[in-house]
Amino acid sequence: MTQSARAAICAGKGASFTLADITLDELRPDELRVRMVACGICHTDLAVRDGQLPIPLPMVLGHEGAGIVEEVGAEVTVARPGDRVVMSFNSCGHCPSCDVDAPTYCYNFFPHNWTGTRADGSPTLFCEGEPLNGNFFGQSSFATHAIAHERNVVRVPEDMANVPLDVLAPLGCGLMTGAGAVLRSMKVRAGLPIAVWGTGTVGMAAIMAAKIAGADPIIAIDIHDERLAMARELGATHTLNGREDVAAAIKALCPAGLAYAFDTTGVNRLIEGAFTLLAPKGILGLVGASDMRDELTFNEAALMGGGRTVMGILGGDSDIAGFVQELMAYYRAGRFPYDRLIGHFAFEDINAAIAASESGKVIKPVLRIAPEA
Ligand SMILES: [Zn+2]
Ligand SMILES: [Zn+2]
Repeated sequence: MTQSARAAICAGKGASFTLADITLDELRPDELRVRMVACGICHTDLAVRDGQLPIPLPMVLGHEGAGIVEEVGAEVTVARPGDRVVMSFNSCGHCPSCDVDAPTYCYNFFPHNWTGTRADGSPTLFCEGEPLNGNFFGQSSFATHAIAHERNVVRVPEDMANVPLDVLAPLGCGLMTGAGAVLRSMKVRAGLPIAVWGTGTVGMAAIMAAKIAGADPIIAIDIHDERLAMARELGATHTLNGREDVAAAIKALCPAGLAYAFDTTGVNRLIEGAFTLLAPKGILGLVGASDMRDELTFNEAALMGGGRTVMGILGGDSDIAGFVQELMAYYRAGRFPYDRLIGHFAFEDINAAIAASESGKVIKPVLRIAPEA
């Protein structure tokens, strides 16, 4: 059955998101329809709005959705109607990356997340009888209802029943990326130093995860002092303002070099500088969005000679359900207090929420789309 919904449509750079009535397509056997309760706003949504990614507009964005399953296709086993779920990236399930539970590196990532339709080209959304671009990250969850897929839905375990969905919503993107980079991609070891450039959602998640891993020291770098104060509360042992001589300060703190350097900024100059601070066997993890034309330069002798690694990381090497549930457990144990980054907004106030994100006033805005019960 088709389902009518209300959605925030993004028309492109300089335009506000506008709410409109839309219709969702009938479910395919491997799809679920979710009544949305909340959705986080992420920098990727804004990068799409601004045309930095090759994604068709207008589109219903939103990729940190949480809600309650209303209906499931015949082949769906991951959740049932009435289940509380969080959504994340979609993937194909049958490529060399998906085969080894690395779905964030799916060979078919683009058609399953970014083309505005299902991978087979069929539309999931309609507006005034015409197809509307949707299926963003397999969800398009800036809406009262969304079509998700068997592979990008995470059922919220029973022991999380008292944690509201408007807190759980953002786990499936930036938080998963930052925490996974530390715990899964770089496999940070206890007692070794890490420095994190940038303290947005991803950087803060990395700092909390570095504390979980027992890294020491944990150095946070940003140009906003109030963010650095928050980073210290979440686990950073040292903070450096990027306007200071960061390299000299890190060399003083870690004379043998950094075992781990994690860049969330995507700024060439900072990435290349971080590389020069690595200890032997040191890993430089990269998650920042940079200009598509950017190139990086490293000294070959330093890269090879010290067995150093420069690692591109997507989605924190998350296997989606397993890792998101692991993060929920850390949250419940008080070891991943990411709720401190959240600022809540009503769905109608999506443009104010975006403005608060862009001004840096709120690190992780979360839209409240509908009450949970
Ligand atoms: Zn995101
Ligand atoms: Zn795949």
